[in-house]
Amino acid sequence: MTHTLVSDSSALPSSPAQGGLADSADPTVTAPGRLVVLTGPSGVGKGTLLGRLRARHPDLYLSTSATTRQPRAGEVHGQHYYFVTRDEFEAMIQTGELLEWAEFAGNYYGTPKHPVAVQIERGNQVILEIELEGARQVAASFPEALKIFIAPPSAAELERRIRDRGQDDAAAIARRLERARAELAAADEFDLKIINDDLEAAIAALEAALLD
Ligand code: ADP
Ligand code: 5GP
Repeated sequence: MTHTLVSDSSALPSSPAQGGLADSADPTVTAPGRLVVLTGPSGVGKGTLLGRLRARHPDLYLSTSATTRQPRAGEVHGQHYYFVTRDEFEAMIQTGELLEWAEFAGNYYGTPKHPVAVQIERGNQVILEIELEGARQVAASFPEALKIFIAPPSAAELERRIRDRGQDDAAAIARRLERARAELAAADEFDLKIINDDLEAAIAALEAALLD
């Protein structure tokens, strides 16, 4: 299933931002809001943590990414992701609509720039839940961004969570586990590392980082 971005203009502005973040790839330009990058290996619990935090704090603004991956059961276009074709995604790259993008486990993922720019210009905090390559791009362009890494209690527990989630086929799980090794090795690049062992403790740590 795919969707066009332009037909869903109420959910996602299709034109690149004018001014603000659109021009601030220059790292000397500081924006009034705050960018927060949340990274960690697939299956570590990023979505779970953010979902629980958002239930408590509905005003938290989470960027909605575009991806060429197929929707999982229950995923909603415009809510979990903007599900697009590879051609549509490549057009977004060409027209400069993405703040960052990367290929992960055989699919493209990227952050639409315009909605983020609007929130930052309003002085709001924006959370980007993205993988390592994208996190590095954001860190290079916006050194003031807060970078949080979510780590699993162990590699074995990470594998158990990915498998038990039951959302990916064997090949996708293998690709995700391979990528997880590189992501775990990069944890020290981040400002804050939260180990998602006890869920409530991890939520409390994230809440403190984002809301205190
Ligand atoms: P991600 O968004 O990082 O890919 P998910 O949020 O989908 O990960 O979580 C992967 C699986 O791990 C889900 O089945 C989720 O219920 C489970 N999970 C998340 N956090 C914990 C935790 N602290 N303890 C045990 N299981 C967890
Ligand atoms: P999933 O397919 O499990 O939803 O996501 C796979 C990986 O892509 C996760 O690590 C997730 O954080 C990352 N991801 C999601 N959206 C984006 C994005 O816009 N940009 C980048 N670089 N990674 C993303």
